[in-house]
Amino acid sequence: MVGGGPAGLAAALEAARAGLTVHLYDERPILGGPTYGRAAESKLLAKLEAAGSRGVLHQRATIWGIFEQRTLAVWEGERAESLRPEAVVLATGAHDRAVPVPGWTLPGVTNAEAIRSLLDARALPPGQRVLVAGTGPLLPAVTSRLVCEGAHVVAVLDAAPSRRMPRVSPTSWARWPLSGDATADWHTLRAARVPLVGSRAVARAVGDPSVRKVVTVALDEDWRLVRGSEETFEVAAVCFAWGAVPSVQLSQMCGAEHQYVAERGGWVPRVSAEIYMETTVPGIFSAGDGGGLGGAAMAVLEGRVAGIVAAARLGALSPGAARSRLRPHQSALAPLRKSRDVLGRLSTMRPGLAELITPDTVIPVRGHYGGTG
Ligand SMILES: Cc1cc2nc3c(=O)[nH]c(=O)nc-3n(C[C@H](O)[C@H](O)[C@H](O)COP(=O)(O)OP(=O)(O)OC[C@H]3O[C@@H](n4cnc5c(N)ncnc54)[C@H](O)[C@@H]3O)c2cc1C
Repeated sequence: MVGGGPAGLAAALEAARAGLTVHLYDERPILGGPTYGRAAESKLLAKLEAAGSRGVLHQRATIWGIFEQRTLAVWEGERAESLRPEAVVLATGAHDRAVPVPGWTLPGVTNAEAIRSLLDARALPPGQRVLVAGTGPLLPAVTSRLVCEGAHVVAVLDAAPSRRMPRVSPTSWARWPLSGDATADWHTLRAARVPLVGSRAVARAVGDPSVRKVVTVALDEDWRLVRGSEETFEVAAVCFAWGAVPSVQLSQMCGAEHQYVAERGGWVPRVSAEIYMETTVPGIFSAGDGGGLGGAAMAVLEGRVAGIVAAARLGALSPGAARSRLRPHQSALAPLRKSRDVLGRLSTMRPGLAELITPDTVIPVRGHYGGTG
């Protein structure tokens, strides 16, 4: 298993339960992925540890390459080695989409993933004025975390038109999370009276030495800037949440076929009949956000399917036993997939967004996106 987020842990659990020896690699020091460290520890990780010697966990271990015949290159501790497992599940997740605007490299401008570090490091004292901007399901998740930590969220700007949200959103958003937390996020936003503004984005961040204000603009149907619609907010921090781009480096490197699916964030591996999570390279599976941002519940289900099918392919489960283990996961996946696609369509990038990138926008060649991230 490459990746110890919800998808990789669930895949490992099913494969170990079927009697396979499973090695799970994650480059982070804590398993559970960037978002679900704690949840994974209390739920999936305990179950995996109970699988005893069949589950071998490798933390701080990066799979940096994948070559012919499922040969994986691993960098673990101070050691480099290569492995040739009989089956591989790629559960590498997704990374934040960056939309550069003038001033986005200023300290105080950050992204959805980095905001956690900012809050954990207490770099954002309570009461600070924060503006959240972007689109998609991460907007309420990030904003509610900020509100709960005592930030004063001056507004949430969604590039998508807000008038479409009330009709489609509640069911889809509520289905997205692991345990109903998206609904709780919306309640938090409503209770804190955070203004939610549709068809609007940050055009530039201004300040010296750190961000002090942002200039926002209205967007038309194609997300092109509407001239004369500028509005300025005084802020101490800005958090961009533009959704996620699937991390497909390894699936591309192993030669699997990919397809461009805009509502899933870009290029994703083609998986055979989707429900089986196997890429076009036999024995290599893909599960979780690496196939498009779907939320933790979906990542767990896809991971389970990949783990069971891998076990069946290797003869650890009979076809009948695999079918009966797969059935509940496949039926639970169907509505979540529908939900993901609805949300994905609502927040698919429109071409006008590129107009935010002006000739004076700094694009760092190396280093972190977001000054304080
Ligand atoms: C700010 C934020 C808030 C969110 N809130 C919610 C929410 O409220 N509800 C919800 O359902 N979802 C939420 N999500 C989304 C949720 O976190 C993901 O959908 C889910 O974690 C996907 O699981 P995954 O296992 O596919 O990937 P991830 O959890 O991203 O895990 C991927 C793992 O793979 C590892 N990895 C990647 N490449 C390699 C490599 N080459 N070698 C070794 N290890 C590697 C990474 O270190 C990482 O641990 C949120 C996401 C963010 C960023």
